[in-house]
Amino acid sequence: MTTVAVVGGGCAGVLATRELLQHTDDRVVLIEPDEPGGGLAYGSARPWHLLNSRAGAMSAVADDPGHFARWAGCSPDDFRPRTEYGHYLRSVFAALPGDRLTVRQSRAAGLSATGVLLADGGEVRADRVVVATGNPAPAQPAARPDHPDYIADPWTKGALEAIPSDVPVLLVGAGLTAIDVALTLTAERDRDAPITAVSRRGQLPLTHTAVAAPPIGLALDDCTTLRDIVRAVRAEAARAGDWRAVVDGLRPYLDELWTAFTPDEQEAFLRHLARPWECHRHRMAPSVGARVATLREEGRLEVRAGGVRSISAPPAGGLLVELEAGVQWFGAVVNCAGPGRLPGAAGSFVRSLLDRGQARVGPHGLGLDIDADGSLIGADGQVQHGRRLIGPLRRGARWETTAVPEIRAQAHNLAIPVW
Ligand SMILES: Cc1cc2nc3c(=O)[nH]c(=O)nc-3n(C[C@H](O)[C@H](O)[C@H](O)COP(=O)(O)OP(=O)(O)OC[C@H]3O[C@@H](n4cnc5c(N)ncnc54)[C@H](O)[C@@H]3O)c2cc1C
Repeated sequence: MTTVAVVGGGCAGVLATRELLQHTDDRVVLIEPDEPGGGLAYGSARPWHLLNSRAGAMSAVADDPGHFARWAGCSPDDFRPRTEYGHYLRSVFAALPGDRLTVRQSRAAGLSATGVLLADGGEVRADRVVVATGNPAPAQPAARPDHPDYIADPWTKGALEAIPSDVPVLLVGAGLTAIDVALTLTAERDRDAPITAVSRRGQLPLTHTAVAAPPIGLALDDCTTLRDIVRAVRAEAARAGDWRAVVDGLRPYLDELWTAFTPDEQEAFLRHLARPWECHRHRMAPSVGARVATLREEGRLEVRAGGVRSISAPPAGGLLVELEAGVQWFGAVVNCAGPGRLPGAAGSFVRSLLDRGQARVGPHGLGLDIDADGSLIGADGQVQHGRRLIGPLRRGARWETTAVPEIRAQAHNLAIPVW
């Protein structure tokens, strides 16, 4: 019997384990230091953090799109709490047949010729390995200080709760992470001091409508360059009335478009278009959008465009931050940037893969390099047969690879016996 080791038991690891147990005869060993079904998005969420996708998009079961909405007893159009989705993933995991499944509560340290090396000194012997360790560590601003009032990772347990409610707070970044942080800082305590979010463009994520417009497929056959595509998307969005339908209609083709771009076009996209694209593509739930609008109207959340030039620590505490508009004091600075680039942002396991040549950094440092099936490519350019990657670390080699529908499809493909 073939043994597959799945490294990481977050969303991707649970979906991979499920697909392998349901659709193959393989034995699966899931390696995860915490409880399977947690992970960054759903394990550390608070009750006010909602999914940014409708329930109808979030099924864990590839051939049953309504599975999550039925489990939650809600409409497929609803935006449910992320904590609830974590419960769902854990219930999906708990329902798996146990006779071919082993959970090793440990951290993987690297790969050997015969399986996975564990940080506790053990080894899981396996014929194949699925790497599902999630995002790289958050990017850090160049001006990052080593100071207790600088929170490098807002997901660190208890970090936000430790910020006094009477000090102004700076959020570095204005994406979905900054929204999560602003909601937490204003959710439970009477915060009267303002929150400022600063990002290069000062652009917040946009908001979903209560009911989704059907996606509009766009004919891109005549487009040969990135510029052509941008023009076509803008024209169709203006024509369609609701740009969301055009953005959603593009989603199934994004990987194809991304891989067809030249490296220069990809670089230009990352520099000029990725952020506006993300604002349109990864949208807030309507009720979250309304809450954010209220916070802004009340002057409790301010969003500014521009960079952070420097951060210094005055003797009296807090941090002095040089922004475009001048120097300002904040009681805490929270880094809300998205994932950093590899190799710098690699965790110890991915670092080991890179150091041993078992993987190489993918395009633009956004993730690891893979072949068409998702198998890792080593430092020598050779495909590492039997070693597949799923989830956010596919970014760069692919584009659309971080959300549940894409991870679900990647997990499903693991059960096709070609690797
Ligand atoms: C805040 C947030 C909200 C999101 N909301 C949505 C949404 O509404 N809809 C949607 O479709 N997508 C959403 N996403 C995107 C997507 O669902 C996540 O990116 C997805 O959870 C990724 O799953 P993952 O298993 O790859 O990573 P994670 O869920 O982070 O899991 C990684 C797991 O790997 C384990 N691990 C790490 N290193 C090791 C090691 N060396 N050995 C063993 N285990 C290890 C960790 O303990 C963790 O459990 C969201 C993402 C974030 C960050």
